[in-house]
Formats: sequence, structure tokens, C-alpha cells
Amino acid sequence: MNEFHWIERYFAPLAGEEGLQLKDDAALLSPLPGKDWVITQDSLTAGIHFFADDSPAMIAQKALRVNLSDLAAKGASAKGYFLSCLLPADTQEAWVAEFARGLEQDQQRYHVKLWGGDTSRITGHGITLTITALGTVDKGKMLRRQGAKPGDILYCTGTIGDAHLGLKARKEKPNDQDLLQQRYLLPQPCTTFGTQLAGVASAALDISDGLLQDAGHLAHQSKLTLEIDAHAVPLSSAAQNWLDKNKENPVSLFYGGDDYQILFTAPKKLETHLMQLAAETQTSLCSVGIAKQGPAQVILSDAEGNKINCEQAGWQHF
Ligand code: ADP
Ligand code: MG
Repeated sequence: MNEFHWIERYFAPLAGEEGLQLKDDAALLSPLPGKDWVITQDSLTAGIHFFADDSPAMIAQKALRVNLSDLAAKGASAKGYFLSCLLPADTQEAWVAEFARGLEQDQQRYHVKLWGGDTSRITGHGITLTITALGTVDKGKMLRRQGAKPGDILYCTGTIGDAHLGLKARKEKPNDQDLLQQRYLLPQPCTTFGTQLAGVASAALDISDGLLQDAGHLAHQSKLTLEIDAHAVPLSSAAQNWLDKNKENPVSLFYGGDDYQILFTAPKKLETHLMQLAAETQTSLCSVGIAKQGPAQVILSDAEGNKINCEQAGWQHF
């Protein structure tokens, strides 16, 4: 079995029109009048972003979803993606079949198609997957990290810290029925809500490397202070139970990665509109703080009212 067979049998059925059935060297995209293309890329490596023995379908879905999360945070509607697979020499066909099945499920869930990619052998065992995802947004409306204004409210979707705790639990005792571990294995990007934020939010990004670190990026690019109220940060009941049991401070969760929620700012007067959008898209949404004139930094108020400066904290590769 060779990669041409895998491409034809497993990847070509996933191809959208732009991918020319994966029968050519390249994909073909036409400009869309009135729209901008928004393009993002994330790589996932076994041992860093997932475990090599995770289900191939879930690995595929995580690789796609982390990219869809970036597009959602930019207000873009995902359309297609390119997939680079670097696979160990001993990869079995059954693994590729399961991997493609995972992609197919998510293509239907998120309305995206495969437009091309590359398949190659890697030395060693670290499966490495790179996805480049493309989405569209009305011209000039892509949400940026810059653009927050003093007085804007800071919002966060979903809950924070579940995947971080899921990873801890996964290392101790793998169990894909465990809710927290599921959140680590399979991010739930806020795609429908994200697309509604274009033209509404003043600045946005996806939280992938820790709430506090990512808030720091927003503060720096928007050149202002973000004050986050630790109490207001939404936690799932599973995460809250874990904190109670382990007598840990919730702040420990704000440094963990893999949340794939959207952090954004918007003028106060849009609060009712935002809550309505959230309800319509079944998205949980909380205001977690405020943007203020001041140095580019994040300040966290903890339960005792202490203020901690914490912009540098979070996942870093190097
Ligand atoms: P090349 O020799 O130019 O690298 P390939 O044989 O790798 O060409 O690719 C042939 C076609 O298959 C192209 O359209 C390419 O985009 C597609 N393709 C290859 N690998 C993948 C993959 N992992 N996912 C999606 N499409 C792929
Ligand atoms: Mg190739």
C-alpha cells in the first residue's frame, strides 16, 4: 500500500470542488466578491498535542477543530482546509481509514471540505499533522487582536480549564468516557457564535495557550490594560468538583492550555445583543472583565481582592 492509494481511497472522497478531486497538483480558488479570505495554520504533534495511541478519528478531529477555532475567533466562516500528514513508516491502512472517518464526520458537522494537502513519511514515531484552514468574512470585517477600547467589556465563551484538567487525568488514567478528558481530546470550537461576532466585537482571539497568556496578547496588541475578575471566569461543574476535591485555587486553571474558547471585547452597549446572539447559537457567554486605559498588561483580581499582574503565564513551546 502506498500514499497514492491512501489519497485516492480515503482523502479524495472528502474533497470539495476546489480540491479537483485531489487529482491535480494544486487546488483552485476563485475570489469571492465582497469577501476576504481568512487563513490560519496549526500543527499537532504526537506527544505534545495528543497521544499517539488516541483514537485516530479523534486525533483528526482535534487537528481540524483547533484550526476552526482560530477562524471562529476571527469572525470567519470556515470553508475548506489543506492537510499535511507526516506519518511513521509503520502506519497501518486501518489507522488512515479511521483518521479519514473522523475528518468526514467533522466535515459534515462544520460544513468544510478538504482542498488538498501532502502525505509523507517521517523518521521516528512523532505523527505530525498540519492543517491550513480557510474561511471567509465580509470585506474588512476580520476580527483582530488589536481594536479593544477602554471601557469595553471582556467576554469569554464556554468554560475554562477543562482540557487542562483532562490532560492531567489522561496522564494518570486514560478514560475517554471522562468528561474532562473528552474536553482535552475533542475541543468544541464556537464556530456559529464566532461568525456572528464579525462587525460586533472590537477585538478577539481564541484561547489556546491559557486564558491569562492569551489575554496578554489582546492587551498588548490593543495597547491597554485588561482587568479580569477571577470569580467571573466560567468553570464547568466537573472542573469545580476537581478544584474542591484537590483544594486548589481556580487561578491554576487560567494558565492551562487547550481551551479553544473565544476571548473578545465589545462596547458595553452591545451587551444585550451579544447575550441574544449567544442564546440563539446555544453558546454560553460570560463577561469576565473590562478593558482600561493603561499599560499593556493583564491584571487578575483573586478571591481576596488581591491584584496579580500575570501577562507572561501560559503554555510556551520553547
Ligand atoms: P505532489 O507530488 O505534487 O506532492 P501529491 O501526490 O502529494 O502531489 O498530491 C496529489 C494530490 O493529492 C494533490 O491534489 C494534493 O493536494 C492531494 N493530497 C496529498 N496528500 C493529501 C492529504 N494528506 N490530504 C489531502 N490532500 C492530499
Ligand atoms: Mg505531495
